Amino acid sequence: MPKANIGIVGGGIGGIAAAVALHQAGIDATVYERAPQLREVGAGMMLWPNATRVLRSFGLLEDVLARSGSSTHFLVRASSGTVLMNIALGEFDVPAICMRRSDLLTVLLAALPPERIRLGHKLNKLQQSGDKVRISFASGLVAEHDAVIGADGIRSRVRSELFGHSEPIYRGYTVWRGVARYDGGAILPGANSETWGVGKRFGILNTGPGKFTWYAAVNVPPDHLDAPGGRKRELQEAFIGWHEPVADLIAATNDDEIMKNGAYDLVPLRRWGEGRVTLLGDAAHPCTPNLGQGGCMALEDAAVLAKCFDQEAAPEVALRRYETLRRQRTRHIQQRSRLMGEIAQWENRIFVAGRRVVTGLLPARLFEHNLRRVYSYKI
Ligand SMILES: Cc1cc2nc3c(=O)[nH]c(=O)nc-3n(C[C@H](O)[C@H](O)[C@H](O)COP(=O)(O)OP(=O)(O)OC[C@H]3O[C@@H](n4cnc5c(N)ncnc54)[C@H](O)[C@@H]3O)c2cc1C
Repeated sequence: MPKANIGIVGGGIGGIAAAVALHQAGIDATVYERAPQLREVGAGMMLWPNATRVLRSFGLLEDVLARSGSSTHFLVRASSGTVLMNIALGEFDVPAICMRRSDLLTVLLAALPPERIRLGHKLNKLQQSGDKVRISFASGLVAEHDAVIGADGIRSRVRSELFGHSEPIYRGYTVWRGVARYDGGAILPGANSETWGVGKRFGILNTGPGKFTWYAAVNVPPDHLDAPGGRKRELQEAFIGWHEPVADLIAATNDDEIMKNGAYDLVPLRRWGEGRVTLLGDAAHPCTPNLGQGGCMALEDAAVLAKCFDQEAAPEVALRRYETLRRQRTRHIQQRSRLMGEIAQWENRIFVAGRRVVTGLLPARLFEHNLRRVYSYKI
């Protein structure tokens, strides 16, 4: 029986990774992306061992490592700089790394024939009839596939075509991100860190020699507007007096290159698909960024999806099997990420003082053991 011909809506990490995984399994897949070009967007992101293992299975780990900074441990710090916890990351068969999202996309795209990506097509409508799925785009293009994957992000059109509209939930804080050069001595080699304050925190990720991605999460309303003095000035004021090199990193970033995203997710969906359609990545299980796992989960989804299509002849069976294999794990990450965010963004000073004491006392091994469950995942 010939293998299915798959349409993928959305050319983010999830959609492109799914196309790579399917292509490598000998399955035809075409990505439809609404943007007219795949722009260089995005600050650095963490790829934990569960994601670098997927990239190794794609044969792309070497290319990825050449564009990233490695992470050997993760520090939780107080705003004075005191290290409250030092979590080791080095015990896996593959490394934890930080790289720019645009670099990850470049590596993934290089593994695909260019004709597999169709740009400038925004999905409008999806109809299933018989053994075909018809997708219609604002551009006028209409395509038919044996199965369709909605990898179109947190505000997924495919999801709303299947199940009606669901509005993402704002979790009370917004994240600013930037990439900066820093050559001072305040960051130990291989160390990433997150510093916890009152209703705000600051993270530093090693993105390559002398290059760092930083992020600042601050409790603000969802409609928070940029301050008149700009994002950089606002952050400099919010993090005044924090340990080195927080101020240096903000100062070394151009105001117009500072990205800003609200922290949104959805309660885990009971169903991801119907018939010959399913969801993948943020379309299926958007989560707050606290564990740095959203993109990692999309990579895992991609590898599992391709394996299911490789093993099951009937598309519906392959899709339902993929959903069964992925739902529990992604639900766990969504819930844990949300809880982490709630604790890290506490404003109550008594809670914050208690958090500091407990974090300083808890053995890092406890966290390492917990994280091993997330990082050890094998497809
Ligand atoms: C502040 C922040 C920090 C993060 N840090 C990390 C991290 O360190 N590590 C990590 O793994 N993850 C991280 N994430 C999460 C990660 O960025 C996402 O989980 C990941 O990008 C999801 O990829 P995706 O392909 O599913 O969705 P998206 O990246 O949202 O891609 C969806 C694509 O679909 C396209 N699209 C949308 N609608 C349509 C339509 N109607 N028709 C056609 N195309 C359409 C969009 O243009 C887009 O290209 C972070 C997220 C945030 C906000």
